[in-house]
Amino acid sequence: MSATLLYEGKAKKVFATENPNQVRVEFKDDATAFNGQKRGQIIGKGVINATVSAHLFRLLGQHDIETHFVDDPVPGELLVDRLRIVPLEVVVRNRVAGSLQKRTGLEEGTPLSFAVVEMYYKSDVLGDPLLNEDHIRILHLASPDLTARLKSEALRINDVLTPYLAPRGLILVDFKLEFGMTDQGVLKLGDEISPDTCRLWDTATGKKLDKDRFRQDLGTVEEAYQEVRDRILAR
Ligand code: UDP
Repeated sequence: MSATLLYEGKAKKVFATENPNQVRVEFKDDATAFNGQKRGQIIGKGVINATVSAHLFRLLGQHDIETHFVDDPVPGELLVDRLRIVPLEVVVRNRVAGSLQKRTGLEEGTPLSFAVVEMYYKSDVLGDPLLNEDHIRILHLASPDLTARLKSEALRINDVLTPYLAPRGLILVDFKLEFGMTDQGVLKLGDEISPDTCRLWDTATGKKLDKDRFRQDLGTVEEAYQEVRDRILAR
């Protein structure tokens, strides 16, 4: 009997398990950018992103941060808690890049004097627009209390990830998180933490080692993902 497919997104498939509170996530090699306009494959990405995510979720767990991670039974797959996802993408930024560069005109790579948190509406139709706290309220996406918790949790995660990556020669420029609630009402970090969802630059050279290599056609995409995996898994 084949497992029931609950959902298929751009980079993942989600399957039901025998436990109604858990799902199995299969990471794909498919890559998309610019709201699905650019499509391609990054060979080996699925296995790397699952491996990196599992490792970083375990790390966060050791710092008492609640995540959906349960187990990584086989390469390319994670067993996770089933969450009702809050339809917000929570972005944390330590340096200027991407849409912040475009929005502000600040030079790419400029260090920010404090970590900037942004919330985007998860809506393909609208193209994931940036929202402020009032927008989040009028859309009933999260209560002011939940929005504040998302922000503080995202900053706590940044405070774990940034110093973990620095001695591995990786600058955590920015990253995107998604959160959700269990049926028991516990807020947990969901989705993934990988070179698809983080900007990671080599400390020595500034070389981009993340999905920007795919977005910007910089070449050696597979090698960059492998390099990030090797550095993150290194003791
Ligand atoms: N990001 C993501 N998924 C998205 C949009 C952004 O994982 O749908 C990540 C992106 O990889 C980067 C951070 O969030 O690490 C900030 O992205 P930004 O707002 O600069 O947008 P982008 O330039 O990536 O479109």
